[in-house]
Amino acid sequence: MNISGKTTITGIFGYPIEHTLSPAMQNAAFEATGLDYCYVPFLVHPDGLENAVKAIRSMNIKGINITVPHKEKVMQFLDEIREEALFIGAVNTIVNTDDRLIGFNTDGRGFMKSLNESGISVKDKDILIIGAGGAARAAGYYLCMEARSLTLYGRTQSKVERLAGDLRKVGDVVSTIDNLSDIKRFRMIINATPLGLKHDDPLPFDANILGKEQIVCDLIYKNTRLLKEASEKGCSIVNGLGMLLWQGALAFELWTGKMPPINVMRSVLEKSTHY
Ligand code: NAP
Repeated sequence: MNISGKTTITGIFGYPIEHTLSPAMQNAAFEATGLDYCYVPFLVHPDGLENAVKAIRSMNIKGINITVPHKEKVMQFLDEIREEALFIGAVNTIVNTDDRLIGFNTDGRGFMKSLNESGISVKDKDILIIGAGGAARAAGYYLCMEARSLTLYGRTQSKVERLAGDLRKVGDVVSTIDNLSDIKRFRMIINATPLGLKHDDPLPFDANILGKEQIVCDLIYKNTRLLKEASEKGCSIVNGLGMLLWQGALAFELWTGKMPPINVMRSVLEKSTHY
């Protein structure tokens, strides 16, 4: 990569930031397309977020991804927030257009693209999401426009009900359950909790009751124990790597106006996650 005075800067704000896979993925894509862009990780302490956002303008940065813990707090410092990000209540991508900072959220669309490339349609399916945080909200926003039904389950019922109420304004197919005894009736089950990130985490539900006609998705970007056990039961499985890939690809497109080389980005992610 040749960085010159003309190179366009993009990057990511997070705290911590050292584990992010986005710089490797985005820089490989810039290099492969010959675009004079680079992508830099910025360790931004929560107390410094406002100043860091101001620096996007003053340092002529074209675009920034936002990761934990800044996705919600950053919204107040932006000039405009697009509809999906407003609904989700979180921004993961900022575009600097003539000094106007516009906030987007590409997570939900990224999730739908990852299903699509796996040949999975959500139309006419009964879908269960486990978890009621930001990722559930992002995926749910699109799922409730297309699925036959969308059911939510989570350990904090008040959060589940709040999310269900918000999603019903988008698509009138949303309900909640307070236990997971009837997993069999869902064609697609999505784990949107962090359960599975650590190797000794319990499963989000008993995988023994799964049948081979079911699709199990985990938003965690590696093949979790849940996915391994679901696969052994004959289920189709989808991990969160595709969502990570596509949310980044959509950000790339917002910054450059061009579609990135998806396979270059995917291969970087696969190498980094040891597939
Ligand atoms: P979040 O906003 O913190 O929400 C987490 C949800 O999981 C909440 O509903 C939380 O319940 C629940 N939860 C947390 N720990 C739990 C436990 N031990 N048992 C049962 N439920 C638990 O997080 P998020 O941003 O939605 O992220 C959720 C997962 O999605 C993470 O694993 C993250 O890595 C993944 N993710 C992947 C991508 C991707 O690109 N692939 C993008 C975003 C997120 P409470 O509300 O009760 O705490």
